[in-house]
Amino acid sequence: MIARVPPTRLVVLGHPVQHSLSPRFQNAALEHCGFPQRYSTLDVLPHDLAATVDCLAAEGAGGNVTIPHKEAMFALASHRSEVAEQTGAVNAFWFDNGALIGHNTDVQGLQAALLALLPGGVRGAHCALLGAGGSAGAALVTLQRMECGPIRVWSRTAGRASALARRTGSHVTEYASAEATVHGASLVINATPIGLHGDAMPVDPLALAPGAAVLDLVYRRGGTAWVRACRSRGHEGEDGLLMLVEQGAAAFSCWFGVQAPRKAMWAALRDFV
Ligand code: NAP
Repeated sequence: MIARVPPTRLVVLGHPVQHSLSPRFQNAALEHCGFPQRYSTLDVLPHDLAATVDCLAAEGAGGNVTIPHKEAMFALASHRSEVAEQTGAVNAFWFDNGALIGHNTDVQGLQAALLALLPGGVRGAHCALLGAGGSAGAALVTLQRMECGPIRVWSRTAGRASALARRTGSHVTEYASAEATVHGASLVINATPIGLHGDAMPVDPLALAPGAAVLDLVYRRGGTAWVRACRSRGHEGEDGLLMLVEQGAAAFSCWFGVQAPRKAMWAALRDFV
């Protein structure tokens, strides 16, 4: 999907959103391409989202959506891409004659991160997914597309995993603890925010099966404590930075119809890696 007319400016809608790295690497990409648009954060409370979208429509703006608005943007969109329909969440948007177009590039970002972690792909892998929110939905759709094997999900709130599976048309087994979920899994994905602000870990690395690979959707300067601990025990592991850049690169291509300048994007994050 490509915008018929590029957005006049770009925003990332969230609450809170100040911590987002998207303005940093998207502005580097815009400057690299010589595009006049600029990308900024827009902190929006849930009850202000619809009114904010109306203002952005009048401006012909576009952008990204983060916690907690991805599902609400899905509901507001007039037209949704197939992948947005599958995930039930919108993380990239623009307007066409005032109509809100909703897309989901988290799936592309996640697929790129999984292929960087496991270049042979995840076909048949036994996967453990921790968390059952918006990004877990994108993870289920990605894993299905990549023909992953059986998927176990742990959700802090009982029943949320089953609801997510119904929404994304996935077959999953819901487990009662993170430790039981990762037992014997060859791929473990953290789709909770645990580790975002401190060194807490979504599951004890000692509970992982030998040789299991881990993908943390959370990213932090210098890597997350969980990925560092898993790597020190010999596991392959990646945090969420590659996914972040790849979902942003995919969105950039949708807004402007050109390949995103990934080198410029990564250069803007040099001090974060
Ligand atoms: P979300 O929709 O709010 O879902 C979060 C999930 O984690 C829910 O299942 C929630 O359970 C669970 N959870 C939250 N706090 C928990 C805790 N302390 N212990 C156990 N479970 C907990 O959020 P999301 O959009 O899926 O995002 C999740 C994380 O992924 C965020 O940190 C986000 O920054 C990251 N993310 C990264 C990228 C990237 O590009 N790298 C993209 C998307 C998301 P309840 O239902 O019980 O609340």
